[in-house]
Amino acid sequence: MMFQVSSSRFQVPGTWNLTLGTSFMLLPESIQSLINALERLPGIGPKSASRLAFYLLRATDDVSQDLAAALANLKANTAFCQECFNITEAGRELCDVCDSPKRDGSVICVVEESLDVLALERTGGYQGKYHVLQGVLSPIEGVGPDDLKIQQLMARVARGGINEVILATNPSMEGDATALYLRQRLEPLGVKVTRLARGLPMGGDLEYADQNTLLRALSGRQEMN
Ligand code: ZN
Repeated sequence: MMFQVSSSRFQVPGTWNLTLGTSFMLLPESIQSLINALERLPGIGPKSASRLAFYLLRATDDVSQDLAAALANLKANTAFCQECFNITEAGRELCDVCDSPKRDGSVICVVEESLDVLALERTGGYQGKYHVLQGVLSPIEGVGPDDLKIQQLMARVARGGINEVILATNPSMEGDATALYLRQRLEPLGVKVTRLARGLPMGGDLEYADQNTLLRALSGRQEMN
């Protein structure tokens, strides 16, 4: 007698249906929403997001409580300088650099992020002011001129009193493209436009450059033409 297997024996129950795109095990909502939130951060993929979420779940309570408190304070206690868009304390209109009468207001150093301001300030070799773009042009990530503080930079330069704009975007493809774009926009305004000297590693970040390299790049800056 032939052994007949009923086909129903191989039917997986509904909850274990492995059809593509169907989750067979749902994570609790609170974990899933943390993973989703972490995934939206730059440089964090689905794997890292899951790993971080489960780490926080296992860690002692103070780890997640400190993180939650820091996140809650982040927006509440900080603001952007209304002149250069560097980070400043909440409730202040201008940052320390813009506010200081000792700084040379005729030179503006354009950087991608506030961390770059910090890196340049650490060198102690720059006495001008800054303009923080809050990012870099990136067609791949859909970042265009209107997503950055470019209009505000043009307005600052158009108001007059600026002799030189130093383009200190990172020596990366996006950083170079952004510098080129800014030069084209700034030149008609009759201002001298310079770029940090080569010597910073290509693809590197200003914030990770050592102080001497950064100082050399700053003092060796060249006019863009
Ligand atoms: Zn400022």
